[in-house]
Amino acid sequence: MTPSSRHYDIVIAGGGLCGASLACALSKGGKRVLVVESVALDSDVQPAYDERTVALTYSSRNVFSALGMWGEIEQVGAQPIHDIHVSSRGGFGQTHLSCHDAGQEALGYVIPVRNIGRVLWEALSQSEAIEIQCPASVVNARVEQAYCQIDIVHGSEAGRVTAELLVVADGGRSRLAQILGYAVSTKPYEQSAILSIVRTDQPHHGRAYERFLEDGPIALLPHRINRKSRGPDADACHFAMVWTTRNADVRQRLSLNDEAFVDLLQSAFGDRAGSFADASPRKSYPLSRIRVDCPAMKRSVLLGNAAHTVHPVAGQGFNLGLRDVACLAYLISESGLVLGSTEMAREYVRFRRRDAWAVESFTHTLIQAFSNSMAPVSWARNAFLLAIEHLLPAKRMLLKRTMGLNAMPQKLTSGIPIQ
Ligand SMILES: Cc1cc2nc3c(=O)[nH]c(=O)nc-3n(C[C@H](O)[C@H](O)[C@H](O)COP(=O)(O)OP(=O)(O)OC[C@H]3O[C@@H](n4cnc5c(N)ncnc54)[C@H](O)[C@@H]3O)c2cc1C
Repeated sequence: MTPSSRHYDIVIAGGGLCGASLACALSKGGKRVLVVESVALDSDVQPAYDERTVALTYSSRNVFSALGMWGEIEQVGAQPIHDIHVSSRGGFGQTHLSCHDAGQEALGYVIPVRNIGRVLWEALSQSEAIEIQCPASVVNARVEQAYCQIDIVHGSEAGRVTAELLVVADGGRSRLAQILGYAVSTKPYEQSAILSIVRTDQPHHGRAYERFLEDGPIALLPHRINRKSRGPDADACHFAMVWTTRNADVRQRLSLNDEAFVDLLQSAFGDRAGSFADASPRKSYPLSRIRVDCPAMKRSVLLGNAAHTVHPVAGQGFNLGLRDVACLAYLISESGLVLGSTEMAREYVRFRRRDAWAVESFTHTLIQAFSNSMAPVSWARNAFLLAIEHLLPAKRMLLKRTMGLNAMPQKLTSGIPIQ
């Protein structure tokens, strides 16, 4: 078959956080781009833009600044994280990371994903360079020598387009990655994350908490309820809670009424953040680790969760995906490599493999080491927290990782726009 009249430079399958961010990064580069997204943005079942919040690192903020979107994201509600307190229940070790140690105004920002989605999709809908098909799904893809052939279903209509490059951004457990023959390794954690917005009787002052328990960590991220307020929030007592829970306990925890859930949280977390007063309806997400050693081939690239899904313990998944975006946007727009070529695929793998491996290993090790109750392991993790607290070079290393500044810098992650 020869390339159809519906031929694109780039087709992005999946308009979630990573796919939509890449489309925005490419919107001024003169390329013909099509974004295909299965679920309407305003649908209650849109999986990518639900009621979750994410912690964005400083380097992710740079990406959105370079795309000219940070001002708007901040305006719809970004709560700066000024410091993070890390502790282990029943242990002597704890550490405290502060933005002052890093010489920055914030270590990161907590933002509802729905708000990020709204800003990204508004920009996409105003861009003349980006074509959108939504709701529509990429149902099949085949790589030919000169192009990638892509089958799309839109309601009851089926169509076919071709592209120089197919970007697979359809999330974890990617069907398209399987269809294209990528070697994907998936390992369920036998854990789920229970999410809720909880309120305490004390202002959070921009402090986040990570508390490790034997059966999984509890993260509390400072949350801004008053979305318009950019200054001090009068009601700054809310946290976005992520409680990693063994699958065997999830149903029981979800069935608790508000009062019983708040009591359980209080006894598990302690009173470091104050007394928990109430909790919004709970929702759970099963957790898996997904890794693809070679996330690009001729004419196709895996982006974001399709390439790597990590445990949310350190809030790194989307941040890692945004670094994929920064790298791919550079390779497409400025590297001079032929779009969709084997050389471009090789460079993408070379740039991205190490960062993805480092984040996966870091988050996986955290989960393994901090959920082990054996005495030597418990002693070692407390010693680790103490060492971080007292050894400045170790603390600086952790600060860099927390802020996303340890990966190989790209133009976008340094806040510099792509031409
Ligand atoms: C509980 C929890 C907390 C988290 N906290 C953080 C955090 O604090 N910080 C952080 O950085 N990350 C965090 N993450 C991770 C982050 O949410 C993900 O890394 C990020 O959402 C991945 O984005 P994505 O675009 O790759 O995939 P997704 O968000 O899954 O988007 C995939 C999109 O593709 C669409 N799609 C699927 N199949 C097709 C198809 N065939 N054709 C067209 N479209 C298709 C879907 O509808 C969806 O919109 C967290 C994750 C969880 C579960």
